[in-house]
Amino acid sequence: MLSAIRVNRMGSTGTKIVKMNVTELIEMLNKALADEWLAYYQYWVGSKIVKGPMRPDVQKELIEHANDELKHADMLAERIIQLGGQPLLSPDEIKKASACGYAAPSDPHVLKILKQNIQGERCAIAIYHQILEKVKLGNDPITFHMIRKILEDEVEHEEDLESLAEDIALIK
Ligand code: FE
Ligand code: FE
Ligand code: MG
Repeated sequence: MLSAIRVNRMGSTGTKIVKMNVTELIEMLNKALADEWLAYYQYWVGSKIVKGPMRPDVQKELIEHANDELKHADMLAERIIQLGGQPLLSPDEIKKASACGYAAPSDPHVLKILKQNIQGERCAIAIYHQILEKVKLGNDPITFHMIRKILEDEVEHEEDLESLAEDIALIK
């Protein structure tokens, strides 16, 4: 079994400086990892099928965000492993653990896709804000700074998409 052979990379001093329940922390990070994977796929597949005004600009932004979400997933997985945990191993687990869920871009219109992704960003901002409330700076500075950085990206994502949608709505 995969879980049995996974090498625990957590250093003992690295564990000691975490002043919170590490199991709960890992679970929280895995839920965020699940959201990032679904966000990645939603952006990625959306960039393939999107249609309508300013399509190239929208595609470029969607691909950029997809890559950012994948980078977030990578950061979360690395931290989970550092903490002695295991990143989620299957799409079934990802679907179950996700808090923000997945909005299939069944309508390819630029504004519909942007709207769905804006909703996703709003959910991500709320979740990361909640995590920051729990992972205080003094409890685990490494996770704190990582989540703060991800939150900063999500705030930027929301604004990018909102202004794109605003510009498209102004086209007559
Ligand atoms: Fe993200
Ligand atoms: Fe995002
Ligand atoms: Mg952007």
